[in-house]
Amino acid sequence: MNLLPVIKMGHPNLRKSSSPIPIPEIQDLRIQELIDSLITTMRAEDGAGIAAPQVNVLERVFVMEVDNNPRYPDKASFPLMVAVNPEIKPLGTEQVESWEGCLSIPNIRGKLMRWANIQLNAYDRKGKYFEKELSGFAAVVAQHELDHLNGILFIDRMDDMTSLCFREEYQRFYQ
Ligand code: ZN
Repeated sequence: MNLLPVIKMGHPNLRKSSSPIPIPEIQDLRIQELIDSLITTMRAEDGAGIAAPQVNVLERVFVMEVDNNPRYPDKASFPLMVAVNPEIKPLGTEQVESWEGCLSIPNIRGKLMRWANIQLNAYDRKGKYFEKELSGFAAVVAQHELDHLNGILFIDRMDDMTSLCFREEYQRFYQ
């Protein structure tokens, strides 16, 4: 359950595609400790989610949780979720405007579009497969974290860079 350093934009590993974790290895100590460290680091950094590449591990797992998060004071809470080898499919064609930040791009926010409703298919930390329908902020966070596993940052999905701003200006003008 170590607090791990979060690598920042510019680190080449944030731009790489991560490898799937063999299902029988999910319960191995190495992966369990990685998951615990991701949870510890996400909570310590007030992240809504964190993906393994952000702690410099190129394997396909992310965690997400919002519980009265000071970085996202206007967002509804959702419970801790661990997603190994996740896949996402959009449910319907509705898209929503999303102001996002990233622990690997500190203090920056930008506006982009995400699917409003998705189905997340993944394995939990016990190696059990699950399918979960997500909407609202949880759906947005899952899409953001899955992007990390493919070397994609939220700024890549911004059509209009004029909304790119520092968090304090976001809070001042847009929140
Ligand atoms: Zn991120």
